[in-house]
Amino acid sequence: MTAVLKAIANNNEHANLQIESDSRYAINTLTKNLGNLEDIGYIGKSNKSLIQLTVAKIRESGGKTSFKWVKGHNGHTGNEAADILADEGARKEHGNDENIEIHQSLRLTGAKLSKITQSLAYKAIRERNLQTERYQRKRTADMVDTVQNHVEEALGEIPTEERIWKSIRNKDLSRQARYYLWMTAHDAYCIGTHWLKPNYTEELQRRSECLHCHGAIEDMGHILSRCETPGQEQIWQLTKDLWEKTGRTWTQPWIGNIIACALSKTSENKKERDPGGNRLWRIIVSESVYLIWKLRCERVIQNENTVFSIQEVSNRWLAVINARLELDCDMTDKSLGKRKLKEKVVLHTWKGALKGESRLPRNWIKTGGVLVGIGPRFHQEEG
Ligand SMILES: [Zn+2]
Repeated sequence: MTAVLKAIANNNEHANLQIESDSRYAINTLTKNLGNLEDIGYIGKSNKSLIQLTVAKIRESGGKTSFKWVKGHNGHTGNEAADILADEGARKEHGNDENIEIHQSLRLTGAKLSKITQSLAYKAIRERNLQTERYQRKRTADMVDTVQNHVEEALGEIPTEERIWKSIRNKDLSRQARYYLWMTAHDAYCIGTHWLKPNYTEELQRRSECLHCHGAIEDMGHILSRCETPGQEQIWQLTKDLWEKTGRTWTQPWIGNIIACALSKTSENKKERDPGGNRLWRIIVSESVYLIWKLRCERVIQNENTVFSIQEVSNRWLAVINARLELDCDMTDKSLGKRKLKEKVVLHTWKGALKGESRLPRNWIKTGGVLVGIGPRFHQEEG
């Protein structure tokens, strides 16, 4: 079919053209089967854009195009040469970008209603879904790549895809955080470049940009790590302070190792393992990014881009983290049976992160009112 297209494209516009081919498929598709194919809108036909392009070129040409079937592999010079080229082409991973435009008047779309059967309609829907799926898979693949790169930088090892997806389902993450990380790993939220579809109006395309940072594409990486609206920077500062309060070293995570925040470094050496730290990390990082995202959505969707005060941001963060701490305590309750958390796990997780910890009993779980050790206004106080 590509050879037919090339022959037509290379032919003088008004000259007659006879195409000799051993392909009954190509000849029949362009001649006796064409009427039916156009009636059903090419539904279920493979190579449909190539066929449509070829048909349009035939109709566009001023001369007469005819086809002659020849026996293949029979010493016909043109046929042998075409055979070699076709073989090469079939081995290519991607088709050539033909980059030939179809004139608007020759572009036939849709199917005749009278020819549509239920099974054809189903086929059409499936085709359409497959196209979107392929599009999303590319975004997912790109994101998984980013996750692997960032995790490698942070932990010194490249996680398999399977480990990444499993980490997103980690039960230490709240249900909302799991959903958020899963959506982000698929790059599925309608932000940033999602608004740059060619058929969108200029007004819609402008939604790809951050309302706050002039000209910046508002993708999740921007929202979580680069946006200058009050929110992300303050939340990271609070998260860092809480982390450092436990005596551990902070390394700023980026979108990739944020998505995989529940992954921990694998190590044979027991001393190097820090299950309490790993659990605290995945809880505070996942809750913090989910809050950054939530604040962004409230600002953009509900509050007409009114920014939050630093005070409000830090209060919201404290409320979220303290609620998680309280939930952890509640989850040690015997009545939860199998879902119950071990007290030891909770004690290890929050060790070093609590307010007035030296005055708390060794097992503070039943004490009630225990809070993380960061005051709401520390930020301004430190100036
Ligand atoms: Zn921004």
